[in-house]
Formats: sequence, structure tokens, C-alpha cells
Amino acid sequence: MTAKIIDGKLMAAQVKQEIKKTVAGLNQKPGLAVILVGEDPASKTYVGGKEKDSLEVGFYSQIKRLPATASSAEVIGLVEAYNKDPKIHGVLVQLPLPETMDEDDILNRIDPAKDVDGFTYINAGKLFSGNPGHVACTPAGCLEMLKRSGIDIKGKNAVVIGRSNIVGKPMAMLLLKEHATVTICHSRTKDLASVARQADILVAAIGKPKFVTADMVKDGAVVIDVGINRVDGKLIGDVDFDSVKEKASYITPVPGGVGLMTRAMLMQNTFNAYKTLNNL
Ligand code: NAD
Repeated sequence: MTAKIIDGKLMAAQVKQEIKKTVAGLNQKPGLAVILVGEDPASKTYVGGKEKDSLEVGFYSQIKRLPATASSAEVIGLVEAYNKDPKIHGVLVQLPLPETMDEDDILNRIDPAKDVDGFTYINAGKLFSGNPGHVACTPAGCLEMLKRSGIDIKGKNAVVIGRSNIVGKPMAMLLLKEHATVTICHSRTKDLASVARQADILVAAIGKPKFVTADMVKDGAVVIDVGINRVDGKLIGDVDFDSVKEKASYITPVPGGVGLMTRAMLMQNTFNAYKTLNNL
């Protein structure tokens, strides 16, 4: 079997187009504020992408760049100002923050209604309780890709490799909400390959290039590759795409897969925040 490629570029463009069309008819623009602390090159690229996407869909965009020497109090002051700013509906603090800062404390200063990354304890807890508020963009994007591909999730065996707070855990909760039977694997899982082979839906969020090989994949499985690894200047996923695509029924490519949908979901979350804050 050769897998159908789930086209993240096309799906992200569709999501953004849907938002853009609705936003064009609004009196007030949805606003997204992003705070970037320091000079991390990858973070700068991600923030640039967020600004570009915001402008593309017709949002009001505010990017606040602070030096790595900024204090936590300055960052918190900005977050609190954006929480109160009626032009701003989504507030995002780009991670990682400098090591001197308490990431959890700062993220949890964001008004949960404006927490479009879904990282506050309130939004993580809502997802855990089966009543999601804003859901972290990467797992939300993976779910959207499954749905837009017409993949049935109910009753399926889903295996998520990775248990981070920003990908693995929320992904597992989303799949559970969709009535999958969910297994979470991690670095201490024994005989990972045999667990992975049980998966009808396999999500790889590990951070190790080509970690998932064809022998770990059941015939006809749906494979979602979250990994973004830079190897010799190229982006490589956590899945060995060339071999796994011969076994899977659907697969996401890297690049051109989950990363683009993640960006589109930030626009969707900001638009959702705008609607909620305006009682629409
Ligand atoms: P993380 O480092 O926080 O978590 C990695 C997880 O992988 C951990 O839970 C760990 O237990 C597990 N793991 C590590 N080695 C393992 C092994 N040998 N066997 C089984 N499990 C193992 O990473 P993260 O933030 O969850 O990101 C994971 C990957 O996804 C990275 O490549 C990251 O760049 C990428 N990512 C992509 C997007 C996107 O938009 N596509 C967004 C976020 C993260």
C-alpha cells in the first residue's frame, strides 16, 4: 500500500481562507499579540511566520520584541497590558523563554480567554476534563488534519509517542475525546515497536529524526509526523517517510505537514477567542 499524503499546505491554506473570508466582513479586526524575548533564531522565524499569517487573514498584529536581558516583571507587565487591551484577543509568549524566567508562572498570567497557545493550566485542565477551551495548536492541527482527511477516529487504537505538555499529552486527550483507545509512549516505554504496531493512528512527537521505521507501523495505519528536526540544514520528521509511506494508508510529510497546520490553528484559536470575547 502506498499512503495518501495529507497535504498540510493545502489544508492550512483552506483554514486561513475560511477565516479571512469571515474576518473581511467584521467591523473590528481580531488581534493577536506575540511577545518574543531574546534572539533565538528559530523563535524569530516562528514569530515572523505568526505575523505573516496574522496579516494574511486580516488580523491586527502586535509583535513585542524584548532583549534576553529583560526581566520577568517586564514580560508579566506586557502580558497583563495585553490581557486588558480590547484590540487584542490572543496573547502568546514565544517559547523558550530565557532560563532565568519561570515559564509556567509567566504563561499562567495570560488570561485563559486570550491564551491562544492553550498552555495555561486552565486550558490544559479544560482539555483534560473533556470540555476544551483553547487547545494547543500542534495537537489541534493534527486532529484537524485527521478530520479533514475523513479519517474515522472513534474506536480506533491510537498510539502517541511523546508525552510533552505541548504535544504528546494534549494530543492524547484530544484523541480520547474523539473516542479512540489511546496509549501514550515515551522514552521509558518497553518494546515501543510492538506497542506502535498496534496503532491504527500513530502520532510521532519525539524529536528524533526518522525514529519511526516501517517495522513499527501496522499495514494501513494513519501516521502523523509532528517531528521537526534540522539535519544538515534540512527539515526531517520523526518518521522515516520513504519506508513508512509504503505501509501506511495516510501520512503527513515533513515539511508540508503538521507545522503548517499548527500555524493555521493559531489563527483559528485567535479567531475563536475573538468570537468568545465578543459573545458571537
Ligand atoms: P519534547 O522533547 O518536549 O518531548 C519529546 C518526547 O519524546 C518526550 O515525552 C520523550 O519521552 C519522548 N521520547 C524521547 N526519546 C524517546 C525514545 N527514544 N522513545 C520514545 N519516546 C521518546 O518535544 P516536543 O516539544 O513534544 O516536540 C516533539 C517534536 O515535535 C520535536 O521534533 C519538535 O521540534 C516537534 N514539534 C513540532 C511542532 C510542529 O508545529 N510541527 C510543534 C511542536 C513540536
